[in-house]
Amino acid sequence: MLSITKIFRFEAAHAISCYDGKCKNIHGHSYELHVTVTGKTLNDSNMLIDFKDMKKVVQEFVINDFDHALMLKQNDKNKSSSSLLDTKILWLDEEPTAEYMLIEILKRIETQFPKNITLKRLKLHETATCYAEWEME
Ligand SMILES: [Zn+2]
Repeated sequence: MLSITKIFRFEAAHAISCYDGKCKNIHGHSYELHVTVTGKTLNDSNMLIDFKDMKKVVQEFVINDFDHALMLKQNDKNKSSSSLLDTKILWLDEEPTAEYMLIEILKRIETQFPKNITLKRLKLHETATCYAEWEME
């Protein structure tokens, strides 16, 4: 089956508060998100979806919130320690690991595409050599 992929980049900081090691400190990554969609039928322009329409969805539902944000799990400890920070905080239900970020991104975009296409794969690089991946079953 045909599929297309678009790659997005954003900068974000996070801290894994439950982690016993240096990732519990606030630090940043240049994230790279690969979004792959698939479908059986092409639209009137012989495309699964215009890349610019993919960009619109990911920009609106992911990048606008994640880019240059500090991602933190919503808990009392993080709430009180970040209360003096004058910064953009993206509060998440779980620790902002690459894996959980993918679950959050999936939730935000899976229903936003036209009916002829389906989200097939998401890949989120935290560094050049480390990434998490989600694939449609
Ligand atoms: Zn990290």
